[in-house]
Amino acid sequence: MKLKNKQIAIVGGGPGGLTLARLLQLKGANVKVYERDFNKDARLIGSPLDMHEESGLAAIRKANLLDEFKKNFRPGADKKLIVNERAEIFFSDHETKPNENFGHAYFRPEIDRGPLRNMLLESLQPGTVVWDSHFISMEKQDEGWFLYFKNGSSAYADIVIAADGANSKIRPYITNIKAFYSGITMLEINIYNAAKATPHIYALLNGGKIMAFGNSQCLLGGQKGNGEIGFYASFKADENWVKNNGLDYNDQTQLLSWFKTAYPGWSGIWYEIFENAATPFIPRLIYCMPLNQTWEALPNVTMLGDAAHVMPPFAGEGANMAMLDALELSECLTDDKYNTLQEAISIYEINMRYRASIAAKESLENGERMHSEGALNMMLNMFGGI
Ligand SMILES: Cc1cc2nc3c(=O)[nH]c(=O)nc-3n(C[C@H](O)[C@H](O)[C@H](O)COP(=O)(O)OP(=O)(O)OC[C@H]3O[C@@H](n4cnc5c(N)ncnc54)[C@H](O)[C@@H]3O)c2cc1C
Repeated sequence: MKLKNKQIAIVGGGPGGLTLARLLQLKGANVKVYERDFNKDARLIGSPLDMHEESGLAAIRKANLLDEFKKNFRPGADKKLIVNERAEIFFSDHETKPNENFGHAYFRPEIDRGPLRNMLLESLQPGTVVWDSHFISMEKQDEGWFLYFKNGSSAYADIVIAADGANSKIRPYITNIKAFYSGITMLEINIYNAAKATPHIYALLNGGKIMAFGNSQCLLGGQKGNGEIGFYASFKADENWVKNNGLDYNDQTQLLSWFKTAYPGWSGIWYEIFENAATPFIPRLIYCMPLNQTWEALPNVTMLGDAAHVMPPFAGEGANMAMLDALELSECLTDDKYNTLQEAISIYEINMRYRASIAAKESLENGERMHSEGALNMMLNMFGGI
């Protein structure tokens, strides 16, 4: 096997990096994951993810983790409501959707990011993840690379895989192509103990997700396993909006009055969110990799997930693509039909770029639809609503 006696460094312990580590370890490879977080509990991580049969779940199956996944996913959390700006319900699958339907093409079980990360971490050999390893730079050393980290430590690797997300520090060693701003900004809002803090919204969601459309703007929310509800106010804005808006993201009153002005026509039912959410709210500019990006494969460095192809979240594909990248890369690197690692990396990258650009196009198109005047009707058509 081409990976025999080779040390592999995966930089970044998100869904993509950890899935790759697990899959390569199952094939007997020597893997370390260098993650900048201080330890596994260093931060609370984001909104739930829905896993797709042909990508995220395919990788989980290949990693022999489907049984663990079934213990950790959240039955019913994929149920959804589509509403207008006055929270009038136009689509609900709460009565019709089965809680569990593994193997069905359209079943998209939800898992919180924390449990997904823990499940992957626990599947790795002890000591695989080197915490507090914030990658800064690397230089060529013999046939491989010397990696340098912010805490002053360093490590050698024969093969380096960038899994360090949208602002990857390794990507520039592979290509200069940069992501472009999609025209959409999101404001992330978290509500702790939602049953108490926002009882009306909590009752409306009823454990599932909600998509509200009106005036070319959206509010997108979902119940998390720990009693929190996460919302995104999502809207078209100039790339400099965050820099220039003068908002204090710690000030709920100010953010509520921003909402009242910026989301005209949206009813008072939503105010509960702004009045009771945890602070700070987190603004997120949504970027996308050019759909036609390409580069020459290198012999011993490659990338996956958001590092390779960040895309808007409007098709729920980002984490799924990252995990499918991990699956395909692990297969390519361990397949004897390729003569060299460079050939294996090249084949992986050609397929990955092609597949990711289809997903990114769908994400961009969904983003356009969801932020257009006829958003509600278009989304109802997509989901077959009333
Ligand atoms: C608002 C929003 C909602 C989303 N919803 C969905 C969804 O429903 N479904 C879905 O599939 N996707 C969704 N996504 C996309 C998804 O979050 C990403 O595509 C996915 O997390 C990418 O995984 P990754 O492993 O490539 O990178 P990441 O998850 O970004 O992980 C990167 C890891 O690398 C570490 N790291 C970063 N820099 C360094 C460094 N220099 N040195 C060492 N470590 C480093 C980070 O700490 C992190 O652990 C959403 C994204 C957003 C913004």
